[in-house]
Amino acid sequence: MRLILLGAPGAGKGTQAETLMALFDIPTISTGNIFREHIADNTQLGQRVKTYIDSGALVPDELVIELVKDRLKKDDCHNGMILDGFPRTIPQAEALDIMLDDLNMPIDYVIDVDVADEIIIDRMSGRTVCPNCGASYHKLYKVEKLPGKCDKCDDLLIQREDDTADTVRKRLEVYHSQTEPLIGFYRAQGKLAHVDGVGTFDEVRARIAKALGVI
Ligand code: AMP
Repeated sequence: MRLILLGAPGAGKGTQAETLMALFDIPTISTGNIFREHIADNTQLGQRVKTYIDSGALVPDELVIELVKDRLKKDDCHNGMILDGFPRTIPQAEALDIMLDDLNMPIDYVIDVDVADEIIIDRMSGRTVCPNCGASYHKLYKVEKLPGKCDKCDDLLIQREDDTADTVRKRLEVYHSQTEPLIGFYRAQGKLAHVDGVGTFDEVRARIAKALGVI
């Protein structure tokens, strides 16, 4: 299964990707998580991308494309992968098509997780993430077992700097202008399914499973 999760920041793509990974036994490639790891490790790439990310802007296409190109060549992608947060622009989508063509690994499905902006702004304020494994939680929708601690690795959960209300608004603007055009791009390829992203975690998971034909 090779799957792209499209949708605005905060639409719940990352949370749903965690279940889909287990279901299909395939990795999730989250460019946002990879960048955050680089920032935490203070690598050269981390230093280059930090200002873009903190301000809610997109990292330049060429940096993201190179990163994904290397990641897709790893052995664990042989059975498929979930792309979460990539592609985010038309040039990225075009580059991805070329990469996957070369690897003979075409995308099977593109799921657009649809949530209105006001709901997203509301949701983001309650979101926390694990700085170690990238798992995300929410004070209303996905509560951790021990307050403030990651269920998987026990690390202290944090709020992302780019999850503040102003930056979220900026990220939504960027989403509508640069990423939303991908809906038409993948519709034209006959790969797109829309899923209503409003509801409980299990409701949204069931809708995605239905769109993928696995229930
Ligand atoms: P995310 O965790 O997917 O919301 O990504 C967090 C931030 O990382 C975004 O707001 C961008 O600054 C950057 N980023 C992640 N993926 C991409 C991408 N495919 N293209 C450009 N910037 C990205």
